[in-house]
Amino acid sequence: MTRIRLKRCPHCHSIARLRIDWDNKKINGCYGQYVSCTLCSARTQTEVNEELAINDWNHRKLNNCIQLTLF
Ligand SMILES: [Zn+2]
Repeated sequence: MTRIRLKRCPHCHSIARLRIDWDNKKINGCYGQYVSCTLCSARTQTEVNEELAINDWNHRKLNNCIQLTLF
């Protein structure tokens, strides 16, 4: 199994983790997955598989994008 490396959080530089979105309804029969920071509230949107979630995270497509409120 290939393990794709997650970049560190853009806000606090903590380690990010892949998580399964148990609270939301299933997408195509599977639970959605997202990546979130272990320390702050930065996270991606819920994606259909881990590859997309990791891709979102590594390209900084975050849900609660703090950068947007900074200026
Ligand atoms: Zn963080």
